[in-house]
Amino acid sequence: MNKHLLLILLAAQLYCQPTFALVILQYHHIATDTPAITSTRPDEFAAHLEYLHNEGFTIVSLAARLDSKAGPRQAMPPKEVAITFDDAYRSIYTEAFPRLKALGWPFTIFVASDLVSEHGGQYLTWAELQEMHAHGAEIANHSTSHQHWARRPLGLSESKWRQQFTEDTLSAQAVIDAHIPHAPKHYALPYGEYYPSLLEDLDNMGYLIFGQQSGAVPIPQTPLVIPRFPMGGPYAALKSFKTKVNSLPFDQTFRDHNPILSGLENRPIANAATLGITTAVGLNCFGPGGSITPMKIGTGILIQSNAPLKAGRHRYNCTRRDDRTGRYQWHSFFWMKQRPDNSWYPEP
Ligand SMILES: [Zn+2]
Repeated sequence: MNKHLLLILLAAQLYCQPTFALVILQYHHIATDTPAITSTRPDEFAAHLEYLHNEGFTIVSLAARLDSKAGPRQAMPPKEVAITFDDAYRSIYTEAFPRLKALGWPFTIFVASDLVSEHGGQYLTWAELQEMHAHGAEIANHSTSHQHWARRPLGLSESKWRQQFTEDTLSAQAVIDAHIPHAPKHYALPYGEYYPSLLEDLDNMGYLIFGQQSGAVPIPQTPLVIPRFPMGGPYAALKSFKTKVNSLPFDQTFRDHNPILSGLENRPIANAATLGITTAVGLNCFGPGGSITPMKIGTGILIQSNAPLKAGRHRYNCTRRDDRTGRYQWHSFFWMKQRPDNSWYPEP
């Protein structure tokens, strides 16, 4: 083989290998009297922090780790975690902040700007957000009013819809910027939902985009929707927390994925070969209906749920033990399944 070509191929292959992994945790309430699925008990949250502290994890800010303008990277420590909160609920200030401040750890709060209160109540005030920002919190964009942006209203053209989305994003950012200096251009998708062309608009505006599908973040080649591990309800259990914070990305990632399934697409097929694997051996996937047996067909490794997906949000979670480290590679394929008449599912 031509020597020059061989070097190019080696370089291309190396680019597929993540330089290092980042795990991002997504919390909402740190409380016992709020909706279970979005709540983490204060004692569970304290146990998470204790584990990270005792096991030598480095807690990083999203801006320092992911923004290219942060400058050249140093040699990376092996275990890095970022802590995020969505929706600016009050318990972030009363329960999480004192613990994080004592440890000197950074964190991010994604706020829907219309919901930030001036007078207390269930949401944080700008004064509280400013106080946390002064102690290392990043305040970032989560839309103006937590809309279902991935759902194009009937009768609205795609260009008009995209224009409204862009205006909403800029409007929320302007409110944040008026209260918080140096807010990063980071956007957490409301409900973790998205539509590909809206993602392109966010990307073109210079935003890093964060979802709610689980998985470790490959760096430097991050996917367009950066994964985070939800930490509410049953997902807060300490046993699975340990596996998640130690997880690694697969060797390869793909930039984009269309999650939207029409009413008749009941059992979508994902191709695990896009994760850079060539064999289904050791690959464990779960979806609606339980464990999925991967099917190797040609160069593809196809995974498909056993049960039809009901209308709503779903994930296929795939893990594989990494023999080099003993840690688990973790990736989640995200789906938004419409109702049989192609209308959108109601929010529970
Ligand atoms: Zn939210």
